[in-house]
Amino acid sequence: MSLTKKILIALILGIVVGVGLNFVPTDVFSVIDKYALDPVGQIFLNLIMMIVVPIVFISIVIGTAGMGDPAKLGKIGFQTISFYLVTTAIALLIGLGVGFLFQPGKAGVFNVEESFEAESAPPIMDTLINIIPENPFEALSNGDMLQIIAFALFIGIALAILGEKTKGIYNLFEQANEIFIYLVNLIMKTAPYGAFALIASAIGNSGLDALGSMFMYMLAVILALVIHATVTYSFAIKVLGKASPVKFFKEFFPAMSVGFSTSSSSATLPVSMQIAQEKLGVKKSISSFVQPLGATINMDGTGIMQAVATVFISQVYDIPLGVTEILLIILTATLASIGTAGVPSVGLIMLAMVLKQVGLPVEGIALIIGVDRLLDMIRTSVNISGDAVCAYVISEADIRSEAKQSK
Ligand code: ASP
Repeated sequence: MSLTKKILIALILGIVVGVGLNFVPTDVFSVIDKYALDPVGQIFLNLIMMIVVPIVFISIVIGTAGMGDPAKLGKIGFQTISFYLVTTAIALLIGLGVGFLFQPGKAGVFNVEESFEAESAPPIMDTLINIIPENPFEALSNGDMLQIIAFALFIGIALAILGEKTKGIYNLFEQANEIFIYLVNLIMKTAPYGAFALIASAIGNSGLDALGSMFMYMLAVILALVIHATVTYSFAIKVLGKASPVKFFKEFFPAMSVGFSTSSSSATLPVSMQIAQEKLGVKKSISSFVQPLGATINMDGTGIMQAVATVFISQVYDIPLGVTEILLIILTATLASIGTAGVPSVGLIMLAMVLKQVGLPVEGIALIIGVDRLLDMIRTSVNISGDAVCAYVISEADIRSEAKQSK
């Protein structure tokens, strides 16, 4: 049986078992979760997290060095950032549109008395300034993705310019890369078990009774996510990448399912890069630059949740949003998406920043926190798909322009 099929079965089984676990006594569930689901899920998660930092570092170094020309790096960098900004803005517009149309905050009775202590979001300027690490080894050991990317870019540029002189080190990185690609393949063999355990545990823990009053909100978020993935991304693949979106998503499915089960863009990165390079034919040098950057700064799915949540909270508290507020939401949610780390639930923390900016009560987060774990699974799949779509489109454009030049 193919890996995709196995993962699909694991996914469905995980959902069914997770829902079923909501009906067993709590103490029985805790034992099952503590001694079976949680350990299996955590081992899988640790296995992939173990290779994230080395893979990002090594692949960006060889990707940049392989591009050869710093001017080309600048061009690809510009295209990548533009693609990310435009798709995030479209995602936010879809989220806002669905929020206004569905009016999820008017659809039930909500307890607005709940309180919520917002953690403070890291100031966006600090994030930008600190992209250059003071101590690269600290960045590597803390897993600070933006800093790791910056450091790797510098090493890659140096290798490209020094050429023959540093050929030995370049080869070393190439060989290290082989090792990690082998490890991704190996670890992915355990994905069906890991995904099953993570999903069953997440759904078992989420308490389905919370879903009732939040049904319209969840539906709105999921609908906006589906529209963005099927319309925006398919359009990009079809028109800019000149390929079949169905084929793209079919090949990319295992990565989406890892995103779904881990709720972490960072953890999904090794798998999504491997599929992009080996199955979708994305150029290595482009995938290894575009996807790690995207897993760190491009979060369309998170933006959609934040847009719908903001509209939802404004409706529950009956505080209408004007044009200025809507523009502010687009601006701050885009910045929030850059500052959101690719790990579970951070999108919710960053939502506090958006709410504050438009003058909505941050306590509103208390209303959606109960269902956020489930939505995090779906939006993370969308987040990492957006990065792969960008890598695919840019790689295809590059292949076409190279073919043109050689004619
Ligand atoms: N879990 C998301 C990710 O890793 C971030 C978030 O929305 O919380 O992509």
